[in-house]
Amino acid sequence: MSDQQIYRLRAPVSGREAIAPVQAGVVYRDGETGEELEPVAEVLPLSPSESKLPRTPVNLRVCRRCEQLTGRDLATCEFCGLPAG
Ligand SMILES: [Zn+2]
Repeated sequence: MSDQQIYRLRAPVSGREAIAPVQAGVVYRDGETGEELEPVAEVLPLSPSESKLPRTPVNLRVCRRCEQLTGRDLATCEFCGLPAG
């Protein structure tokens, strides 16, 4: 179970973006420009979730029983509970 919410961060001037878990009170900066990155969106899955992977196509598989998209790092389908593989 992951309690860390992952955020999409953006530098306001350059528009450069990063995906990272955010901790309260910590300032995040772009590695190249040094700009402060601001959280602009929460990334699915929302915390807390069994899955730690952002909901991107490469991180999802189609369940062979219910045909829903579920995280590749989960041992069972998060919708119907069918074991992976
Ligand atoms: Zn399923």
